[in-house]
Amino acid sequence: MDRQAKIYVAGHRGMVGSAIVRRLLDGGYDNIVTRTHEELDLANQQAVTAFLGKETPDFIFMAAAKVGGIHANNTFRADFLYTNLLIEANITNAAWQAGVHRMLFLGSSCIYPRDCPQPIREDYLLTGPLEQTNEPYAIAKIAGIKLCENYNRQHGTRYVSAMPTNLYGPNDNYDLNNSHVLPALIRKAHEAKVRGDREMVVWGSGSPMREFLYVDDMADASVFLMESGVAEGLYNIGTGTDVTIRELAETVMKVVGFDGDIVFDQTKPDGTPRKLLNVDRMKKLGWQASTPLIEGIAKAYADFQNRPAG
Ligand code: GDP
Repeated sequence: MDRQAKIYVAGHRGMVGSAIVRRLLDGGYDNIVTRTHEELDLANQQAVTAFLGKETPDFIFMAAAKVGGIHANNTFRADFLYTNLLIEANITNAAWQAGVHRMLFLGSSCIYPRDCPQPIREDYLLTGPLEQTNEPYAIAKIAGIKLCENYNRQHGTRYVSAMPTNLYGPNDNYDLNNSHVLPALIRKAHEAKVRGDREMVVWGSGSPMREFLYVDDMADASVFLMESGVAEGLYNIGTGTDVTIRELAETVMKVVGFDGDIVFDQTKPDGTPRKLLNVDRMKKLGWQASTPLIEGIAKAYADFQNRPAG
């Protein structure tokens, strides 16, 4: 990827896309193309084809998706499947038609079978049933990986897929109904502290295990992958270590400075018991995560406090 390359970052206002733009600018790439949702509806095939045909970028970072936590995924099941399929199919096909040979497609670790061996290797994909709470999203993301793989096979493109573990950081979603667990706990702990509450509610049993990656590390891995010149395949991006939801809640409480009690709301689902990624493939290429969880949470909490009001 040379510094003058024209790079389209799809989803640049989201947590991952905005981190990729920051990382590209830091790395001296300044020929970056972006479009807001209002300017370009990625679910509109004609609009996407016209846009990529006109811009003909050299690289695409495909970070646009409809995303959310366990509750949103489980509630808006049709939306998650339909919208994500459209966005991926439109961009992949329009990119190929426009002669864009290199793309990084971003997915999620929920593509892997619910009960697969841990840590999860890339080749466990499609070896068993998925977790039910986010099956529609996972199916869409698996379709995205298969689009890349098969456009490569049929059309000779070089589209690569990266599967991050649970991400968090600046520009995260702190809406308690739609967010993932880490931003939700930051908000709950902060509000409990401000209100002077004695307790804080955590969903589920607290025993599921999750791995968390600071989004700037994800952006670094994404740029690293494109710079490395890999031409195809699936790459897990994670830290290689996980914590229980209880441990996570305790760490968040420590960072925020809330020392009340945790109350588990067992009417809420636990989701998959564990999803720790095997990150050997990225390590072999020479990349590993660098932000420790407690440091990342402190940065995320600072970002949360600096958010514009409203
Ligand atoms: P998942 O990784 O796809 O299951 O998505 P989440 O990040 O939304 O949830 C991870 C785990 O954290 C699940 O076991 C949730 O039940 C649990 N959890 C605990 N408290 C919360 C909360 O306030 N919000 C969310 N989204 N999850 C929570």
